[in-house]
Amino acid sequence: MIPYGRQDISQEDIDAVVSALKSDWLTQGPAVPEFEGALAAYCGVEHAIAVNSATSALHIACMALGLEAGDWLWTSPITFVASANAALYCGASVDFVDIDPVSYNLSVSALAQKLARAEKNGRLPKVLVPVHFAGQPCAMREIRQLADQYGFRIIEDASHAVGASYLDGKVGNCEYSDISVFSFHPVKIITSGEGGMAVTRSAELADAMRSLRSHGITRDHQQMVRQPEGPWYYEQVGLGYNYRITDIQAALGRSQLQRIDGFIARRHEIADAYDRELATLPLILPVRHKDSYSALHLYPVQLRDDTGKTRQQLFDGLRARGIGVNVHYIPVHTQPYYEAMGFKQGDFPEAERYYSRAVSLPMYSSLTPDDFATVVAALRSVLS
Ligand SMILES: *Cc1c(COP(=O)(O)O)cnc(C)c1O
Repeated sequence: MIPYGRQDISQEDIDAVVSALKSDWLTQGPAVPEFEGALAAYCGVEHAIAVNSATSALHIACMALGLEAGDWLWTSPITFVASANAALYCGASVDFVDIDPVSYNLSVSALAQKLARAEKNGRLPKVLVPVHFAGQPCAMREIRQLADQYGFRIIEDASHAVGASYLDGKVGNCEYSDISVFSFHPVKIITSGEGGMAVTRSAELADAMRSLRSHGITRDHQQMVRQPEGPWYYEQVGLGYNYRITDIQAALGRSQLQRIDGFIARRHEIADAYDRELATLPLILPVRHKDSYSALHLYPVQLRDDTGKTRQQLFDGLRARGIGVNVHYIPVHTQPYYEAMGFKQGDFPEAERYYSRAVSLPMYSSLTPDDFATVVAALRSVLS
C-alpha cells in the first residue's frame, strides 16, 4: 500500500536517537532546549516550548491566553478535531468559520461577517485558531487587522505548515499572531515520533506555557512565593500537566529539522508533477497561492460533480489499487460530540461540500517516481 503520508528517516536521524539513548538523559536533558533553540532560530522567533504533541501545545497556548469558561474559540471546520478540542479542555465554547472554497482555509470574508454579528450579540471570540490547511498559510495579514479591530487573540495551528512561508517571513515567526503551534506526528513535515512545539514572541506567554508543560512547578526564585529552603526546593505556583517531550524524541526532531527545506522542495516537485499529470482528469486540484510558500503537507483533490462517479467510488477504486488515500477532514462540527452541542449538517456549507468531494493523494518526501507513476495510473484507470 502506498500511504498518503509517511516519515522520511535517515541514518543521521537514527544516529541522533541512538546517541540520546546512550546519553545521561532520556528526558529533561539538553536535547529538548537544543531542538527548541534550533526551531526558534529557523522560524525567526524568540521563544519555543517543545511538548509531547501539538494537541498539548494547543491546550497550553489557550490556557496561557486565559481562555476559560464563558469564552469562545473560533476555528475552521476543516481541521483535525484537536484545533477545536483545545477550547473544550479549558471549559470554553467552540464555534466555526466556514472555509474559502479555493484555499480551503477559513474564509476571511466569512470571518468578518461573523465578527460583525457577534459584536452585536456580545459573543465575540477571545481566541481565533486559523489552521494552515495542507501547509498553505491563511491570510494572516487580513486576520490580524480583524484581531486588532475586534480584540481577539490568535493561535496559528501550523501543524501542517512547519517550514512554510507567508509574505516575507517563515510561518512561526508570529508576526501576525500571539502563538503558533507545530506537530511532529510522523505524517507531518518533520517528525519526532510524537511531539509538538508552541512558539511565541512574548516572554510572558512563553513562561506561562513552560510552567503549564510541567505541573505548574518552578525552580526560578523570581517566580517563587517563599524563600527557597535549599537546592532541592521547588514550588508549584499553578496547575500544570506533564506535557514534556523526551530527549529521544527531541533528538529525532532536531535531526529532522536539518533536512526540512529539502523535504518541502521535494513535496513541491511532487505537487508540480501531480498538477501536470492530473490536469486533464475530472478533478479540482489544490491551488498554491502566490503570496506564500506552502509546506504541502497534503495534496487534496476534489472530484468534479459532472463525472458520474462518486467520491466513494474514487476512494474505493484507489484503495483497491493499493493507494492508501485518505480524506482530510470530516468537518468537525458534524462529529457526534459536536452535534450534541447543537451543531448540525448545513451549518458550514462550503466545508461540507469540500468534504463530500475530497480525497488526499499520497504526498511525502520519500514518495518514489515509481510509486508516483502508480498513483497517476490508478487515478486514470478509476476515472476513465
Ligand atoms: C496533526 C494535527 C494536530 C494534532 O497534532 P498532534 O501532534 O498529533 O497532537 C492538530 N491540528 C492539526 C491541524 C493537525 O493536523
